[in-house]
Amino acid sequence: MKNSQRAFFCENCGGRVRASASTCPRCGASFAGVRCPGCGYRGQEKDFLRGCPSCGYQGAPRGKPEKTLFLPRWVWTAAVCLLSAFLVLSLVLLLRRV
Ligand SMILES: [Zn+2]
Ligand SMILES: [Zn+2]
Repeated sequence: MKNSQRAFFCENCGGRVRASASTCPRCGASFAGVRCPGCGYRGQEKDFLRGCPSCGYQGAPRGKPEKTLFLPRWVWTAAVCLLSAFLVLSLVLLLRRV
């Protein structure tokens, strides 16, 4: 099933609830607010329309994460190591020529 609307979870049964819903479609419980599964923040549905106001959580994860621009830290570490190794090597070569 593909839901374009962000999903949140019922405090009573743990079922998925739309951010705009005021009652749980699964257990029928009506709730005054929505609880963020990320940080536990409770708030009104309207507060969650743009994600959790506390931690920025935006519904259930849908497959792949969207943020892939940032490389993992080991890539940077490897790059820095290679660069410094290259610098040291060229320095050694320069010193040997002199
Ligand atoms: Zn429920
Ligand atoms: Zn949150």
